[in-house]
Amino acid sequence: MTPVLAVRGVSKTYPGGVVALDDVTLSIHAGELLAIVGPSGSGKSTLLTVMGTLDRPSSGSVEINGRDVAALPDAELSAVRGRFIGFVFQHFHLIEGLSATANVIIGLLYSGVPRRRRRELALAALDRVGLTHRAGHLPSQLSGGERQRVAVARALVKEPALLLADEPTGALDTATGTALIDLLATLNAEGTTIAVITHDRDIAARLPRRVELRDGRLVADSERAHA
Ligand code: ADP
Repeated sequence: MTPVLAVRGVSKTYPGGVVALDDVTLSIHAGELLAIVGPSGSGKSTLLTVMGTLDRPSSGSVEINGRDVAALPDAELSAVRGRFIGFVFQHFHLIEGLSATANVIIGLLYSGVPRRRRRELALAALDRVGLTHRAGHLPSQLSGGERQRVAVARALVKEPALLLADEPTGALDTATGTALIDLLATLNAEGTTIAVITHDRDIAARLPRRVELRDGRLVADSERAHA
């Protein structure tokens, strides 16, 4: 089966010579829920930006649904990113003056979905994250956990091939963070492919697959260990 996302032999050297990723190979298949773990400075954020096509690797390839995207021109690359990848960040990145629904609609901006359908899809996405009763609220009227659920709905609404979550519980208290991971597990059970970047080993331990980075190298993959 073709992976939804694969990085092969990926290295990333920043100007100044810092080797943030060193020959990383990783395939993610449809239906997976995995954690990418490692201590601070191990290359997790760099791997996220390369997997999410926000930055290009220094060498190696990045494939989305079997297509090498490394050589695509910027405009095409952002179209591929917009279509296939949903992002969830530690600090939510909601637009303060917009309701939860309007924030989720942002996730459909470049999707080609007709305007009149967007609201319907946004409300359906809010329903999936359990926030129907907060659809008209502004971010300032929501708790941290609710804001992160809106961000998840915004990532989910375009039905991405891969949802990439970067330290999604980093700004939440433990109980709220646990609930958010439960939500991601539910969405995964419903078919969404999800990669969670985290330095939190307790969170990683709850996910079915764990890959571990250290000093820019992929040093462990629970999947490979069982293969
Ligand atoms: P993590 O997310 O695991 O904390 P990062 O990917 O942020 O790791 O960083 C990996 C290494 O790359 C670190 O040594 C970091 O200092 C370095 N690094 C990250 N971003 C940059 C950058 N834009 N320029 C130079 N060095 C960077």
